[in-house]
Amino acid sequence: MLMNTLGRNRVSALGLGMMRLPQKDGKIDREAAAAMVDRAMEAGINYYDTAWFYHGGESEAFVGEALCARYPRETFYIATKLPFGDCRSAKDAEKIFSTQCQRLQADYVDYYLLHGIGQQGWSHCRETGILDYVKGLREQGRIKHLCFSYHDSPEVLEQILSESEGMFDFVQLQLNYHDWTAIGAGKMYEACERRGIPVVVMEPVRGGNLAMMNPEVVKVFQDADPTASPASWALRFCATLPDVKVVLSGMSNMEQLNDNIKTFTNFKPLKGKDQAVLNQAVDVMNRLPLTGCTGCRYCVSICPQGVDIPAAFRLYDGYVKFNNPRELTWRYLHEIPREKQATACVECGACAQKCPQNLDIPALLKSVHQKAESL
Ligand code: SF4
Ligand code: SF4
Repeated sequence: MLMNTLGRNRVSALGLGMMRLPQKDGKIDREAAAAMVDRAMEAGINYYDTAWFYHGGESEAFVGEALCARYPRETFYIATKLPFGDCRSAKDAEKIFSTQCQRLQADYVDYYLLHGIGQQGWSHCRETGILDYVKGLREQGRIKHLCFSYHDSPEVLEQILSESEGMFDFVQLQLNYHDWTAIGAGKMYEACERRGIPVVVMEPVRGGNLAMMNPEVVKVFQDADPTASPASWALRFCATLPDVKVVLSGMSNMEQLNDNIKTFTNFKPLKGKDQAVLNQAVDVMNRLPLTGCTGCRYCVSICPQGVDIPAAFRLYDGYVKFNNPRELTWRYLHEIPREKQATACVECGACAQKCPQNLDIPALLKSVHQKAESL
């Protein structure tokens, strides 16, 4: 297993993201998910990333059960996140941190992140005293490292990093070979690199989009190396960057986990000719008209109409990527209840303000529904 230094620890370069665990009857399938944790531990993965919101709050409790209750605490590292948007004051943050420790069955957190900082979040954390509170947690040893995950523009990241010099132990970025230029992830990485701040990568496979692609794109990878999965190319891209210390992957089954373990065992950094393969894949992909949704679900609780935005976009992208009209006909009309389909949108625009991908969600919903009806 490829290992790196992150803060004071030696961590596995592959981290297990606990946001897309296997599910049964709408809940985490604890047996299947625990088997994945056991396989990950056996393979040398020692970095586990969860958050207050993941799996409706179940994810942190699962980490407590599957790791803290079953393995010596010093054999793995936990990253979790403060939902500062739910905190009006440091007192609120304190209550949440205390609940998180209970859920995790842990008396300290190795890596504690402000969850999804952007311009507004940065001001909010400073003005409410939340930032001072989490810095205090680090001084007391209740958290070992203070970090943030980031969702905003490269310019805002520059500003936050300038205003917080020496404060944060790493920045968690959405970074993958597609978004390197598409959403300015390359500029964000370089902003961290210039300041010597390590990077942890989220969405290296872009919510699965870079794992299951249009056959035209898959062909590019297969022609280059028939033994390597498209996901392995995406992970290698991230892990080759020198300041990337952990690449998180939200794995949902044993097959994905084993494929990723294979990628990080006897890891092969990307060379020049490999980069040319990725460039070719991006060229092919850019000719496909996808929505750009990563399925992060930040928009879901915002919509007053309860529109199932990520489901509509996932099915539309499936139609485009696999050239399969059934994704957008039968599945769209049968899997999404009528009251949650795109036609329920009243174009208030609230969702678009929350979308880390800056998608024009109301306009996209309209064209998705028109396409579904026309097929
Ligand atoms: S624009 Fe449409 S989908 Fe977005 S929040 Fe408003 S009603 Fe919901
Ligand atoms: S539309 Fe935007 S906010 Fe909603 S799930 Fe997709 S990427 Fe996330």
